[in-house]
Amino acid sequence: MVIAIDGPAGAGKSSVARAVAGALGFTYLDSGAMYRCVALAAIERGIDLDGDAALGELARSLEIDLDGDCVRLDAREVSEAIREPRVTEASSRVSIHPPVREAMVAQQQRIIAAGRFVAEGRDIGTVVSPEAPLKVFLTASAPERARRRAAQTGEDEAAVLAAQLERDERDEGREHSALRSADDAVELDTTGLSLDEVVGRVVELAQERNLA
Ligand code: C5P
Repeated sequence: MVIAIDGPAGAGKSSVARAVAGALGFTYLDSGAMYRCVALAAIERGIDLDGDAALGELARSLEIDLDGDCVRLDAREVSEAIREPRVTEASSRVSIHPPVREAMVAQQQRIIAAGRFVAEGRDIGTVVSPEAPLKVFLTASAPERARRRAAQTGEDEAAVLAAQLERDERDEGREHSALRSADDAVELDTTGLSLDEVVGRVVELAQERNLA
């Protein structure tokens, strides 16, 4: 069973999903980390980021292991390497390819079949788990999203904003599994709200639906 948390880059999905999972005793699943692993492997192996078939083959061949915040790619710890800006940019490029998405979605569905998860991403409520009993679509204003991410990573705020807008555009504009709110998702604008307030609201929603 899964609580789906989707939304654009920097809306607070990771912090919220991690905290909600902790509060409810569920397992946290960061689906973006999986696309980041594909991107890292493609960069390291010199695979064309626009090459549909080769990227699909790569995605199907990788062993990605998520253990809390520890991410392993073919048994190598890559938790930090996948957060580098060049991997962030590449992840939004590799994720537009249907063969890559199919491979990642299949893995995510296998993982969440085995327990109770709070999964965050772009397509959890629409594609990975359309039957999720609670779907939350988190948003925040673009400047606030950039401010939060820059505070987390120490990057320049204007550069983060520009990169985020480019990623959002690619995620929203792609042909397959474009970023959008599921029809039955609860939309939560977190602009001006604290992390605790957002987490409290999601936990409340889970309790109202007897999931906790
Ligand atoms: O969530 P995060 O920013 O780590 O995701 C990295 C990239 O992976 C996103 O920019 C997006 O293009 C892609 N992604 C996706 N579907 C998901 C999760 C992430 O396409 N479920």
